[in-house]
Parts: sequence; structure tokens; C-alpha cells
Amino acid sequence: MTVRAFRGEILSVPHDPLTNSEAIRHDPDGLLLVEDGIIVARGAYADLAPLYPNVPVETLPGLIVPGFIDAHIHYPQMDRIASHGEQLLDWLDRHIFPAEKAFADRAHADQIAGLFLDELLRNGTTSALVFPTVHAHSVDALFEAALARNMRITSGKVLMDLGPEGLADTPDSGRTESEALIRHWRGKGRLGYAVTPRFALTSSDEQLHVAGQLLADHPDVLMHTHLAENERECAEVAARFPDAADYLDAYDRFGLVGDRSVFAHGIHLSHRACARMQESGAGIAVCPTSNLFLGSGFFDFTRAAQHGLKIGLGTDVGAGTSFSMLHTAGVAYQAGLMRGHRLDPFRALYLATAGSAALLHIEDKVGGLLPGQEADFIVLDPAATPLLARRTAGADLAERLFALQILGDDRAIAGTYVMGARTGRT
Ligand SMILES: [Zn+2]
Repeated sequence: MTVRAFRGEILSVPHDPLTNSEAIRHDPDGLLLVEDGIIVARGAYADLAPLYPNVPVETLPGLIVPGFIDAHIHYPQMDRIASHGEQLLDWLDRHIFPAEKAFADRAHADQIAGLFLDELLRNGTTSALVFPTVHAHSVDALFEAALARNMRITSGKVLMDLGPEGLADTPDSGRTESEALIRHWRGKGRLGYAVTPRFALTSSDEQLHVAGQLLADHPDVLMHTHLAENERECAEVAARFPDAADYLDAYDRFGLVGDRSVFAHGIHLSHRACARMQESGAGIAVCPTSNLFLGSGFFDFTRAAQHGLKIGLGTDVGAGTSFSMLHTAGVAYQAGLMRGHRLDPFRALYLATAGSAALLHIEDKVGGLLPGQEADFIVLDPAATPLLARRTAGADLAERLFALQILGDDRAIAGTYVMGARTGRT
């Protein structure tokens, strides 16, 4: 049994501050006691330290917060981040599908998977919901690399039988390979599986039906796809599914809308779709840097709040422009203002941690820095750059947190801890 204690300023937001007035947990001089990777106690140092006199204490300068949870990101797109000149559908054809074809080579998948997870850790992200490629071994490569790093990662083979040559599976192969992956990886490490149709236009009705059957047969897995991201995409979906009430309904009729469903984007949603989403318990991974980069639009935080939608935060690399969830939170604030919403910095931290955890159904495991949860946490350095140091000197907690979101990125991650063990940059 390994017991360790960490002393420092501890902040977490285990609940949504929008609906819970006691959502913020702040210990200005706190202690986090970790036993075999699990948090067993948290509170004021002065109260807790006398109870554990023989446990060595490591003092961490900076702000200790939960490890970030990226609710939507594509690992095969890592090397195509910052590709110029197109909106969604042309960007996929020109930049992304060629990059994903290279994953037919398992060794390439292994190499990128390792680089990708190390980049997540370097940016303070300890859990993520990840798109791989259509190739079943792209999931194996990612999960093996995640096991080696003891990370909490959820992913699943992409279903896309209408994809371009070299990236198209079939309804049968998609079903067989997904079943085999679910069987093989269930219960291993901190991994989870998600049935992953790419989006409505890349799967036939037959394959969307298969995806719904996979979900019905395996109630422990998630469903992960894209929804209402870009105007031209929405128009093409409306043309393909003329009988559907809206984009969400195109998924709904195949059994893909439920409380384990995670939809990336949700920029262009009808009131009916919002109401249906709330009723079903489905959630949205909000990806503001991607929405700006592809000219898709701005997420409507106000409408989401009115409907009580479950939301989290995602980078959506490679359309997203940064692995940093701090930067993503800062852009979420700016995107919110474009539609009249002022995202509170504590709520932004909630979305990047416990909010995303709730989307991924791992909120009992991570995201709140609460006793009983796994000790995934990071140390933020409010003086990581000369400008941050000036802006945060003497500032109160909300100001420091907001400055970190607007000015901070990977440079502000002073340490990343997975199950209580330091990893990433040293
Ligand atoms: Zn995406």
C-alpha cells in the first residue's frame, strides 16, 4: 500500500455552478491524501495533517485542479492540426481522410497514439473521449498506449461504410470488429468503449441501424458522434433524411439518442432537438476552437442552459487549434459572448473536468478531486509567463482562474499526476 499526501491550494468544481450554489470546492491551504492512486481524504491542511503524522507530504506550488477531461478529440488528426483553407466537408476530403488512410499501417498508429497521449498529458489532460480511425487496430494502438500510461481513455472503432475508398467498412465488418473490440477491451485498465459512427453522412441507414443494435446489446458502452456542426453539413443531412424532424432525429430513429450518447458540437440545433436531448439525457461536447477554425458558428450556451442540457468541453483536434483545455475554456468564453452568454471561469473549469466526466459517465471516478475518486490532478502555475505573473499577482481566485484560461496553455501546466503519480513534463 502506497500512501502519499500533497499540500497546496486545491480547487475543484464537482457540480455545475449554474444549478448548484455549493459547486465550488476550494482549500486555500489544502491537503490531498492518496492511497494506491485513490483520494482517501481532502480538506484543510491544518485539520488533516495531524490525523496522518507519518505520511510524507509533498508541497506543490501553484493551483491544484482536477486533470482535464477532453470530451471530443481525434488522435489520427494530430499531424493535420492547422491545415489551411476549408470548411468541414472539404477539409475532411482534402486534409483529414488522406491522413486517416495512413492508419492502415499499425506501426504508424502505434507511433501517433504514443505521441498523442504524451501531448494530452503535457497539456494536463488525463482523460479523453477519442475518435480513432475506421481501422480496428487504431483502437488497439490507442488502448495499448493508454494502458501503458494508466490513463482513463474511451474510444471505439469508427463506423463509416459510406466513407471514401480506403476508409470504408461495411455494416457487417463494422459490427463484427466493434463486437470483438468490446469483448477484448472490456474491464481492462481504465479504458472504456464507445460505438462511434463518424456522422450521419458517412454511414448508410443499415450501418446506423447496426450502431443502434450495438448500443442496445452493450449497455455499458457510450455512443460518440458529431451533430449539427456546419451549415452545409446540416443541409446535406436534411436532404439525405427528408422524413427526419431535424438532424438529431436522423440519429434518434436508429436508437442512437440516449443518456450514454455524446454528440460533438450541436451548433445548429432546433428547440425540438434540445428538448429531445434533455429528455433523453444525451450530452454535447462543446468544441469552440474547432467551431471558429472551420467557420462553423458559436455554441449557444444560453439555450443549452434553458433546456438544462448536459454539456462538457472538447478540443476537437485536429479541427480544434490547441490540445490545451485551458485555452479551449478561454475560447469558450469568447464564443459564448458572441451569442450573449458570459461563461463564468468556475463553470468553464467545471465543463473541462466534472462536466465532461458526466458526459463520459466517469463522474464517480474522476473530475471532482473528491474522496473515493482517482487521483488525477494537475498543478497550474499562475506565473508561468511574465504577463500571467503580472496579471495574477494579488488577484483573487476567480481572476487568477480566468487569466489562466485567457492567457494560459501548456506553459501553465507545472505538473500532471495520474493516479497520484507524476507524469508528463518533469
Ligand atoms: Zn470531431
